[in-house]
Amino acid sequence: MSYDPNLPTFEPGTVWLTGAGPGDPGLLTLLATKALAEADIVLYDALVNDEILSWTKPDAHLEFVGKRARVKSLKQPEITAKMVGHAKAGKRVLRLKGGDPFIFGRGGEEAIELAKAQIHFRIIPGITAGIGGLAYASIPVTHRDINNVVSFVTGHDSSGSLPVNIDWEALSTASPVIVFYMALRTMPEIAQHLIKAGKSPNTPIAIVSSASSAQQETIEATLGTYEQALQSRTTGAPAIIIVGESVKIRGLLKGWQQTISSSLDQNGSNEVSKLKASLSLAEADDFFEM
Ligand code: SAH
Repeated sequence: MSYDPNLPTFEPGTVWLTGAGPGDPGLLTLLATKALAEADIVLYDALVNDEILSWTKPDAHLEFVGKRARVKSLKQPEITAKMVGHAKAGKRVLRLKGGDPFIFGRGGEEAIELAKAQIHFRIIPGITAGIGGLAYASIPVTHRDINNVVSFVTGHDSSGSLPVNIDWEALSTASPVIVFYMALRTMPEIAQHLIKAGKSPNTPIAIVSSASSAQQETIEATLGTYEQALQSRTTGAPAIIIVGESVKIRGLLKGWQQTISSSLDQNGSNEVSKLKASLSLAEADDFFEM
């Protein structure tokens, strides 16, 4: 029998709030692939690999609604209004986000707004950078000998600063492994907080940029030495940062783990790729933040 996943119909007038995974197109779900092929409207954020946008119908309307470095970005209500407007006009709307839409991606907020506007939607989870991206860097976020707990933390809140409500002592004590999103700029403060709260400056950390793309780069350091290590970095944002002993597993796996084919190049030719290529490191960080 041939393979038939029997996927649901992408109905006109509905929104599919979809995760595009960390970058490697091979990590897209079947539902995300179907959504790309059938959507009338695609509203997308800054994606690590935007080549997948070329899988859309020739007459699909594609619009970048993510953060724009240097240029004014759309506000959240404006994005919601676009989703609702297009759905009410009977379009199949694909709202495409990097990673998983419900992990630091405002997917929850957007789903609430769709429900309020009485629009039917589907959530298509994606592989989040803090799990799948780290896996591509040979770092398992849990390991029986290392941690029974893992925490996911955002390095900045809606104002762009380190969130003020993080209980650093509780986090340091309770979570042997901590994964930080959007934390490149606030890393100096994060390291200070963790060391003050009792983590050793020798705690291993890894900074993985552009995970699961051909530009993937991993830097290993410690909480006390990461600043020097960062200077040797060639690629920029987006980057995921993991703090904890699980970083050491990498030494046992790398060299044997096969990930992305090096012939796969993420540098597309569309507007967003070109913009990203022209950005400084700090600007690129902003660009990939939510
Ligand atoms: N919803 C996304 C996260 C959005 S927040 C997810 O589930 O992955 C944006 C942050 O995600 C970036 O600042 C970076 O910390 C992280 N990120 C996203 N894609 C990444 C990638 N390919 N490599 C490294 N970090 C990534």
